[in-house]
Amino acid sequence: MAKVGILGCESVTHEMDCVMIGCLGNARSRAGKFADYPKDEPVDLVGIIGCGGCPTAVGSDRIWQKVKALVDYGIDALHFTSCLVQLCPFREAFLETIKRDYPDLKVVEGTHPFHDTDAFKAGTKELLSQRMVTPQSMNDLVFKKIKLPPEKSEK
Ligand code: SF4
Repeated sequence: MAKVGILGCESVTHEMDCVMIGCLGNARSRAGKFADYPKDEPVDLVGIIGCGGCPTAVGSDRIWQKVKALVDYGIDALHFTSCLVQLCPFREAFLETIKRDYPDLKVVEGTHPFHDTDAFKAGTKELLSQRMVTPQSMNDLVFKKIKLPPEKSEK
C-alpha cells in the first residue's frame, strides 16, 4: 500500500478558499497524478500540509519542517499540488531542500491534471486582486458606505 502526503500552496487554500476538491477527487479515483500507483493496491492519503505561506523569498528552506510532519507518519511519496507546481516561484527551491533532507522520499509534481497555464494564472491573479468585483472593507463601514443584503423575507 502506498502511503502518500500532499503539500499545498497556502495562498490557494487560504486566500482563494480552495477546498482541494480536485486533489482529493483524483486521489480517490486514482486519476491525474495518482494514476500511476498499482491498481491492485490501496493508496493511503496520510495527510495534507500547507507550504507555510508567502513570503518565501529567503525562507524556502523551512519547507523541511512541513514535509517532516508528513514524513513522521511514514509516507512513501509526497505530491505537490498542481497549483503549487503551476504557480509557486519556489518550487525548485522546495524540491532541492526535500531531495537533500529526505533522499528516499519520492516527490510527485502534481495531483490533478494541469490547467491551461495562461488562463489559470490570469484567473488566480483576479481571485487575489479582486478587480472586477471590489470587496468591501472596514473603510466602507467607517465611511458609512457599506452595502447590506436585503432583509430575508419571513415565511
Ligand atoms: S510559497 Fe509558493 S506554495 Fe507557498 S503560498 Fe507562496 S506561492 Fe503558494
